[in-house]
Amino acid sequence: MPGLSKRELRQKTICGVLLALIGIALLVLGVLLFTKALNKNSNAVQDNDKESDAGTVLDSSRQDEEDLPASSYNIDISEYEEYIYTEDEKYLMLVNPENSCGKYVPDDLVYSSDATEYDFSGYNIDRVVLKALTAMCLEAESDGIFGIDITSAYRSYAYQDALFGHYCDQEMSKNPSLTRKEAEEIVSTYSCRAGTSEHQTGLCVDLRVRGDNDSLLEESFADTGAGAWLAENCERFGFILRFPAEKTDKTGIIYEPWHFRFVGYKAANEMKSSGLCLEEYVEKLGI
Ligand SMILES: [Zn+2]
Repeated sequence: MPGLSKRELRQKTICGVLLALIGIALLVLGVLLFTKALNKNSNAVQDNDKESDAGTVLDSSRQDEEDLPASSYNIDISEYEEYIYTEDEKYLMLVNPENSCGKYVPDDLVYSSDATEYDFSGYNIDRVVLKALTAMCLEAESDGIFGIDITSAYRSYAYQDALFGHYCDQEMSKNPSLTRKEAEEIVSTYSCRAGTSEHQTGLCVDLRVRGDNDSLLEESFADTGAGAWLAENCERFGFILRFPAEKTDKTGIIYEPWHFRFVGYKAANEMKSSGLCLEEYVEKLGI
């Protein structure tokens, strides 16, 4: 180059190279910063997702908690949960005039007056059913409903046979012209033949209000505070009102607002929401 000494030329070249290097360095730095910014952005998106996922999870768990039956009781049901929520098919056992259980004897009967948490009269009853019943009666008390008691629970084949025979004798003494078979036909409209009573399963109870004999095994039980409360709340404890007024053609049994059958929480709630009685429910499940 004219007018530039070799030294000046070298200096200029070095300057050019340095500038080029700085330029490259700045470019690389720029690219790095840009990439980092991009990453940061995408991290932010992931974090947002995570956050919203976590939010959803939290929300749904909060929802679940609200839906959890345990949170809707006044009493602490933690010691009763395993009984109330059982899904053992044993508790869907169907016994009615068309489905005899023969001389079946339940294998897990306990005595109701042995329950320490609630004051029941003494009847044999399935162990799990007594636990769920205890929780139900304690909850009723917490709602101001006192004095619910058992008036019948497990009844053996022999007992039902004797009871049925006793009613037949009564009918025949009222009307001596009846044959035994005719008397049995009449009695079978209001009492079960041995082997066809649900009471033989140990899974049901007839309930009453202690001291109130007027509503004892009467339709008027439905109008008592206890009767109304039980009809409204029994499914929360795994029970159903077994013989509703509108299902007598399906159950073959008259309206019995005092007779409660344990089936477990899930089945009881499904039956309540669908309006199915046990005969229909069991048929639907194909059991
Ligand atoms: Zn009954």
